[in-house]
Amino acid sequence: MAGLWFSHRVSRQGSVLLVTKKTDTESNTNYAQGGIAAAVSSDDSAQLHCEDTLRTGAGIAHPDVVKLVTEAGPGLVRELFSLGVPFNTYADGSGAEHFDLGQEGGHRRRRIVHARDFTGAEIEHGLLRAVRSNRNVTMLEEHFAVDLFLDENGRCCGVFALDKSTGTVELVRARVCLLATGGMGQAWLHTTNPRIATGDGVAMGYRSGARIADMEFVQFHPTSLYGHLLEDRAFLISEAVRGEGAILRTRDGHAFMPEYHQDADLAPRDVVARAIATELRLRGGEYVLLDATHLDPNRLRDRFPNISETCLRLGIDITRQPIPVVPAAHYVCGGIETNDRAETSVPGLFAAGECACSGLHGANRLASNSLLEALVMADRAAERAAGEVRGQESSGERREARMGSRESRVQSSASAADDARVAGLRRRLQSRMWQSAGIVRTDAGLAEARKELVALADEAESLGSSVAGMELRNLLAVSRLVVECALRRPESRGLHYNEDHPKPDDRCQRDTVISRSEFAPSPA
Ligand SMILES: Cc1cc2nc3c(=O)[nH]c(=O)nc-3n(C[C@H](O)[C@H](O)[C@H](O)COP(=O)(O)OP(=O)(O)OC[C@H]3O[C@@H](n4cnc5c(N)ncnc54)[C@H](O)[C@@H]3O)c2cc1C
Repeated sequence: MAGLWFSHRVSRQGSVLLVTKKTDTESNTNYAQGGIAAAVSSDDSAQLHCEDTLRTGAGIAHPDVVKLVTEAGPGLVRELFSLGVPFNTYADGSGAEHFDLGQEGGHRRRRIVHARDFTGAEIEHGLLRAVRSNRNVTMLEEHFAVDLFLDENGRCCGVFALDKSTGTVELVRARVCLLATGGMGQAWLHTTNPRIATGDGVAMGYRSGARIADMEFVQFHPTSLYGHLLEDRAFLISEAVRGEGAILRTRDGHAFMPEYHQDADLAPRDVVARAIATELRLRGGEYVLLDATHLDPNRLRDRFPNISETCLRLGIDITRQPIPVVPAAHYVCGGIETNDRAETSVPGLFAAGECACSGLHGANRLASNSLLEALVMADRAAERAAGEVRGQESSGERREARMGSRESRVQSSASAADDARVAGLRRRLQSRMWQSAGIVRTDAGLAEARKELVALADEAESLGSSVAGMELRNLLAVSRLVVECALRRPESRGLHYNEDHPKPDDRCQRDTVISRSEFAPSPA
């Protein structure tokens, strides 16, 4: 979403080259179900949305960024609607059209704008339509961005990208670059994220010297479908299902959430994920149940066609049977540190969306605020980038090549024999991260994780440069950043819960920032 919106916007200023490592639709955005949060109803305001976001952020969210994102949201969401994204609406008695708004945990108002439960896919299709018909935007699919290209002054002037069909690495030069590479859920054994979510942008940013912030704050979604994997990802049962009244129960039918939080099933996600982890530890078993059987079956099928049809295909009729669910790694709040114009600490480099840390989420993400962040911060980046390009032109500064020009450089080496080793190392990484840098952490577990990550990185260095090998090295680098940030936070706050320090500590109420000088980056 961040990359597409940026391209759509900045193309008014010049040519844009969009590099994506798979087909144009494969992304985290494609799987977002619940919706995008924006204060668009008459009983709501940006101020209330801002307060809810700050409260959830547990003292670390940046108030200026939260204010600007929540204020810019409604206008940009309406722009998406006018671009043809089919958000659900209804007409009131006078015939006026309003968004049909969902409710999610932590929001004091119904403010989740959605397109049934295909919100992300519908947004993506709408934006793809816009950029495909835009002659200023060229899309390079199946091109893997390997590393950023910096000039002798440390300014980002492009990216090295591997053409997967020829195995050739090309240098793509550009006047400005935006990293919008999404999440890193594939670092954990259980995740809702698709295969592309390997933290490449954060790893590239780190290797090029960008400051990285708040990587310890990882959101584990409480309810992913237990027992079925869809192409390496767990299928998400959106929080909006609980918003409609579904109840979490132990396998013997006990509704446990009221014992953990006053908002019961609509408590913040970290509270729900920890409650499930606790119930599983106390009572044994590998899953709990999400019960929607008391809800109107027609409304359920109509509001959640994706969830009800996918579950039915897998043998679960959600209108008659409770759904077995477990928590899974879902979203990383941290990333490449940016200011409120999406600029990173590397000149010429912008970052937006899940790979960035703008300060919106702080220690915890309010549901449906990530699509909003991707949209607003990509918009801010486009505005600033256009200004920067205009500035370069008016100062007569001439760069060697025009935006988006490409030169072939080196041939990548890949060996099929490496594949099995890559898969094995990736599995070990995922298990370690699940065990030691998951929902509940300890000092000893984190120290153990650091040791194993160093050892795994050593083993991975000898692998050739296949895409899978480079993704593995990126996953190792960003996992290390998660663990290092977690070790630097001897407290529990928001999404970071350390059993050895179970309470927040005022002295830790700040961002955790890491830069390249602190440990050697793994090579791409
Ligand atoms: C199952 C699921 C449900 C969700 N539901 C919601 C929701 O309801 N509301 C909400 O607000 N958020 C939701 N989220 C989170 C939200 O979808 C993401 O945070 C958001 O879509 C991220 O957008 P993005 O543009 O930053 O990244 P993405 O949409 O992930 O796009 C990243 C792009 O970068 C490409 N890429 C990555 N690495 C490279 C590389 N090395 N070279 C070239 N290209 C590369 C990828 O192929 C992809 O095209 C959900 C996430 C998941 C997984």
